[in-house]
Amino acid sequence: MNSVPTFSVVVPFYNEAENLPRLIREIDAMLRVLEQPAEIILVNDGSTDTFAQPPASPAFAIRWLQLNQNSGQSAAMYYGIQSAQGEFIILMDADLQNDPMDAPRMWNKLVDDGLDLVTGIRTRRHDTFVRRLSSSIANSVRATLLQDHTSDTGCTLKVVRAEAAKRLPGWNGMHRFIPALLLSAGYKIGEMPVEHRARNAGVSKVAGGKRAIRATVDLLGMLWFSRRQFKGRLLDEDR
Ligand code: UDP
Ligand code: MG
Repeated sequence: MNSVPTFSVVVPFYNEAENLPRLIREIDAMLRVLEQPAEIILVNDGSTDTFAQPPASPAFAIRWLQLNQNSGQSAAMYYGIQSAQGEFIILMDADLQNDPMDAPRMWNKLVDDGLDLVTGIRTRRHDTFVRRLSSSIANSVRATLLQDHTSDTGCTLKVVRAEAAKRLPGWNGMHRFIPALLLSAGYKIGEMPVEHRARNAGVSKVAGGKRAIRATVDLLGMLWFSRRQFKGRLLDEDR
C-alpha cells in the first residue's frame, strides 16, 4: 500500500506466538470497518519463542519491528509509536485481552468531541481479584497525586492522535501513565467503556509484587515530570 495511512495500529508483543494469528485477523476485521488506509505495526520486544510471521493481510501493510532484547511494554510501544506513519494511532495488547472492534467507536468519539486521546475503561475486568484490587488502589493514589481522574489508566486500548503520541517520553513504565502525561502537556482526553477479555493464550509477563513496587516509584517520577514537562507545542500549520 503506497498511500499515507490514516491509522497505525501499534502492538508490542513478547512471547505471544499463539496469539498473533488471531490478533492479526481481529485487527484486520476492525480496520475493514474503519475503511481507511492503515498499517499494522507489530513490535517484537525480544521474544524468545518462535513464531511464524503470518502471511501479509491482503488489505493492510504489516510492519514487523524487532527490539534487540526484551525491553518492556513501554519501550516496545514507544518505538512503535515513533515509527508510525498514520494520523491516528490505535494501541492495544497482543494477548487479545482488548477487543480491537472497540476502536472504531473510540475513534468516532475522538473526532466528534475534538479530543487527542480516547482511552478505554475496562468494565468487567477478566483479571484476578488481587490484580483488580491493586489496580484500584494504584488508580486512586494516582488520581489524587497527579490530578488525573482517568478511570482506568492501565487499559492499553487507546486511540490517540499521532502528533500527541509522538510526544510521549521514553521510559520504562510510561505506558501506565499515558493519560496523565498527555493531560499535563495540555491535550484533551476522553474515555469510553470497552470489552476486557481473559488472556487468549500464554501467560502474563509481569509479576504482581514487582509491578506494584515499580508503579509506586514511577508515580513519584511522574509527579516531577508532569510539573516540569513542556506545556507548549507547535501548532499545526493548517490551524
Ligand atoms: N509485553 C511486551 N514486553 C514485555 C512484557 C509484555 O511487549 O516485556 C506485551 C505483552 O506481550 C502484551 C502486553 O505487553 O501484549 C501486556 O502484557 P501482559 O499481558 O503480560 O500484561 P497484563 O495484561 O498481565 O497486565
Ligand atoms: Mg494481558
